Amino acid sequence: MQTKESRGLVLFNRNYREDDKLVKIFTETAGKRMFFVKHISRSKLASVIQPLTLADFLMKINEDGLSYLDDYREVETFKTINEDIFLLAYASYLVALADAAIEDGQHDALLFAFLVKTLELMEQGLDYEILTNIFEVQILERFGVRLNFHDCVFCHRVGLPFDFSYKYSGLLCPQHYEKDSYRSHLDPNVPYLLDRFQTISFEDLQTISVKPEVKRKLRTFIDGIYDNYLGLHLKAKKFIDDLSKWGDIMK
Ligand SMILES: [Zn+2]
Repeated sequence: MQTKESRGLVLFNRNYREDDKLVKIFTETAGKRMFFVKHISRSKLASVIQPLTLADFLMKINEDGLSYLDDYREVETFKTINEDIFLLAYASYLVALADAAIEDGQHDALLFAFLVKTLELMEQGLDYEILTNIFEVQILERFGVRLNFHDCVFCHRVGLPFDFSYKYSGLLCPQHYEKDSYRSHLDPNVPYLLDRFQTISFEDLQTISVKPEVKRKLRTFIDGIYDNYLGLHLKAKKFIDDLSKWGDIMK
């Protein structure tokens, strides 16, 4: 076993036997790992194994089985997110997506940084639905899905009112709409925004503002992309879908 210190984000924990816990942590330098914590009721680790806790963890990494946590410091929690059921639902979905996107033990410091940064911006009050859309669009590559929302698949022209074609897995310009009679009939704002989301910097994000109607169209289209290319069914996503139905009723 190898001793290592790394920043890490707790993804979830679950009970294991009577008083022990299994804790999944996405570490910056050793990928996602499952850690075994014995006697949680008497453990100094009890307070840092809650989901969405960030800390520097001192760990014993076992390549062939469960790893162990020795100690921690510099704990950060997302207070605003934890106190808001909507924010918490979206943050939990992002965490579940990151968990699904890469294998355990696979080093991915870029994804780690992207996830933490997205959560920090959510915590600061930036639009959580748009942050989620950006995360969903950018993480597609980790699932092996590369989609071009920049130019027409036939003529490669840019900056036009594009539509999306599942048949060609790409955009059609008005001149090539006819190539696919089952094209998506998107609001052209949707592919335009997805193109921006693929390359957006966190600084630009402060200035982006999207109308509720376009947000709903983005949500529907991204759900379609996920159904068609990933077939992923995350409980955390189902919870968001149910929550938005409840939200509508409450309004
Ligand atoms: Zn074209």
